[in-house]
Amino acid sequence: MEAVDQTSSGGGRAGYFGQFGGMYVAEVLRSPLDGLAEAFEAARRDPLFWQEMEDLREQYIGRPTPLLFAENATRALGGAQIYIKLEGLANTGAHKINNAVGQALLARRMGKKRIIAETGAGQHGLATAAVCAKMGLECTIYMGEVDIARQRPNVFMMEMFGASVVPVRSGSRTLKDAVNEALRDWAATCENTHYIIGSALGPFPYPDMVREFQSVVGAETKEQLLTRGVTPSVLVACIGGGSNAIGFFSPYLDRHDGSGEHDGSGEHGGPGQQEPRLIGVEAGGRGPAPGEHAARMGGQGVPGVVHGYKSYFLLDPHGQVQETHSISAGLDYPGIGPELAHLGETGRLEFRSTTDEEALEAVRFFARHEGVVFALESAHAGHQAMCCARELSPDQVVVVNMSGRGDKDLFITARAMTPGPWKRYLLDEAAAISREEL
Ligand SMILES: *Cc1c(COP(=O)(O)O)cnc(C)c1O
Repeated sequence: MEAVDQTSSGGGRAGYFGQFGGMYVAEVLRSPLDGLAEAFEAARRDPLFWQEMEDLREQYIGRPTPLLFAENATRALGGAQIYIKLEGLANTGAHKINNAVGQALLARRMGKKRIIAETGAGQHGLATAAVCAKMGLECTIYMGEVDIARQRPNVFMMEMFGASVVPVRSGSRTLKDAVNEALRDWAATCENTHYIIGSALGPFPYPDMVREFQSVVGAETKEQLLTRGVTPSVLVACIGGGSNAIGFFSPYLDRHDGSGEHDGSGEHGGPGQQEPRLIGVEAGGRGPAPGEHAARMGGQGVPGVVHGYKSYFLLDPHGQVQETHSISAGLDYPGIGPELAHLGETGRLEFRSTTDEEALEAVRFFARHEGVVFALESAHAGHQAMCCARELSPDQVVVVNMSGRGDKDLFITARAMTPGPWKRYLLDEAAAISREEL
């Protein structure tokens, strides 16, 4: 393991956000990562690349996604106005496809015919498998054996898209082990294979690349607000690895240059023009005891190096990655993207946490008042948006990113909200299957 300190011409260190980020990888991965960084820089400056992207965003992802004024929710809470960016209306149900499309286009440009990806709950694997089907790329998804058992519907979908889902049997047989397995595959196959990481983390250039592809969420939101003459006071997003949050916040962050360095200050729009507050929401799970949540920035995380980059992680006293818990599978990664760690340290970004119970409450609230079903991950942000709205006055505006829609959570939400009827339904289904097999 060796740190590679890349110095950019702009003065900031490429790949670093303050002390976080970097490229802490084994020697064999240096050259594929350097090659990827180069290809990404070239693509970024090529109008043809962005034209292809624009076509896919419009025809395939379904962009722009709507910005909804949540009028009923606003009235019910009696405080600030709430707007919801309906990112969950994107194809495959969440923001993850923005990144998958971008990286798949890049892979094709680089002449790679095979895509690999890691997945935890299956959302990133699903988006990647869908895009590979669309673009005619071979696709292998690494997934922990434990996750495969818990996430049958997503495994079914990935296989339907033609991907091969490889069970990972090492370690805790969950996401972090799937990442290790994908890195091992890539080290041996990078000649013809591209590794699509699913969040704004990992070694340089992944955090920069994923932010770039997800920044369309924030750019659209900013324009949609501007068109309606609305000035936001607060933006709220949930944080797993941090890709929907960094994309959503992106147009409201100040950057010196292309290096990804921030000055961390929140006021830079000239006199009288204050930038909105930015709130990132982590999983409070079942409470603050170790292993019961995934609030890395909320006090229990420590700086460390895991999976090729430096950031905040939940580690045990021996420096091993800790177990985490969240009702939402997308928020239980033990680490956080390096740029968000830096923005937290400088104070530009505020961190809050929402418990499992509060997230379910938010799902129920927005379903009832707006006819919109938040994914459990996004409902963490929804809950904090409700709290903010209550704290602020009616002339202020809270904008929340609904990173995904909640259809995928049916097996969790229905079980939690109406346990009796749901159990009966599942037992009846199982009985019907057994009868057919006789
Ligand atoms: C994966 C996922 C997240 C968490 O990932 P980020 O990289 O932090 O955005 C949040 N919401 C949904 C709907 C997801 O599928």
